[in-house]
Amino acid sequence: MSLHSHHIRRHEAMSGSAFDTALGTIPRHELPEGIQDPDAAMRFIQDELMLDGNARQNLATFVTTWMEPQAVALIRSSLEKNIIDKDEYPQSAEIERRCVNILANLWHAPEPTGGADAVGCSTTGSSEAAMLAGMALKWRWRARREAAGLDATRPNLVMGANVQVCWEKFARYWDVEARLVPLEGATHLTAGQAAAACDENTIGVVAVLGSTFDGSYEPVAQIAAALDKLEASTGLDVPIHVDAASGGFIAPFLDTELLWDFALERVKSINASGHKYGLVYPGVGWVLWRSAEDLPSDLIFSVDYLGGSMPTFALNFSRPAAQVVAQYYTLVRYGFEGYRRIQERSRQIAGTIARGVEAMGPFTLLSRGDELPVLAFKCTTPAGWSVYDLSHELRTFGWIVPAYPMPEGMADTDVLRVVVRNGFTFDLAGMFLADVAKSVDRLSGRQNEAVAFHH
Ligand SMILES: *Cc1c(COP(=O)(O)O)cnc(C)c1O
Repeated sequence: MSLHSHHIRRHEAMSGSAFDTALGTIPRHELPEGIQDPDAAMRFIQDELMLDGNARQNLATFVTTWMEPQAVALIRSSLEKNIIDKDEYPQSAEIERRCVNILANLWHAPEPTGGADAVGCSTTGSSEAAMLAGMALKWRWRARREAAGLDATRPNLVMGANVQVCWEKFARYWDVEARLVPLEGATHLTAGQAAAACDENTIGVVAVLGSTFDGSYEPVAQIAAALDKLEASTGLDVPIHVDAASGGFIAPFLDTELLWDFALERVKSINASGHKYGLVYPGVGWVLWRSAEDLPSDLIFSVDYLGGSMPTFALNFSRPAAQVVAQYYTLVRYGFEGYRRIQERSRQIAGTIARGVEAMGPFTLLSRGDELPVLAFKCTTPAGWSVYDLSHELRTFGWIVPAYPMPEGMADTDVLRVVVRNGFTFDLAGMFLADVAKSVDRLSGRQNEAVAFHH
């Protein structure tokens, strides 16, 4: 939730909408005194929400904007369920556990001993998952340091400057130095840089499977090998957490040869956003640990569960069960083959857009949609107009395509990013490319007019 500042406009009132709702005036920033008719209240809010962007033309977000009606029906029928009430809703708890086990298998976690469950849980998204995984790293590092009688007051976390903001949040909230490595020779963290940034106070390295800036995968296996070497020469044993917010639901289906998950011994935990390429509406993420050893037991709390107690690790207490149920639906409904087809199609569409953009001339691609179905491109200098102008121009056709500078190390490069998700089609891709071409023409024309006017 954004933290809205309190602009209290005491007497500002909302006049009735075009479809006069008979609400008269409703104050916007304070609780109305009277009671409203439910239909009128709904229409009043619907009218406002119409001003939000059109999800299908939103190429900015990674988050799912379309689900099947059957999934929506399941969500509706579990809306009132609180996932923490494991006693009251044991079947929802069971479904969460199945999802964790399915993901553990998909990500090659070692079999838990004695038929136990895999170690992990659902969260509200990858951000909460990052907090939990980061805490586990910090706790483990501190325990090791204290046991050895060493100072444990200056932890750091090594990551590329391209990490998602949740990692900077983790570092600030949990008092860990965010050791952000500037980009050098790549659009993300490289193995050599990661190992060079580690020292005895490093609680872990975050490797991102699918950078939010350009969709590229960080080389997890190479980072692991570099850390193996570091351990051999210095004795420092630095664990890896993989932030697979997007890639956790792409790589297992499309890049089956890629080594990035628990198949690598050094990978101790992984997070993913169920609500991104997991194909569920916003509100669900996952975090898994390699084994029970990697999740310190003093971070785990017990909740009552059918007369017994059930371990939980979460920042929230009450939270909807509906998204977890919806995740289980997508896993059961699509299966491996369904996910593979959906993600493959998104990747093909991203590739089509990348080739179209490249063929237009004035752009250079940073990524072409062959890792995450995401492409980033910059203007080939000098275009006379910027990616910000183009983003603005595309807005007039309804397309939402963000433009921004790359992180430290490449901060003088400004890019546009296109995220292809389930529900986007080859037809829409064609329309999008046509609108990019028109926007470029308009911008170039305007440029010429401006030049002509000067002379
Ligand atoms: C989106 C994203 C996050 C944050 O995930 P939420 O599910 O939105 O909280 C973290 N890391 C990466 C790489 C992401 O793409």
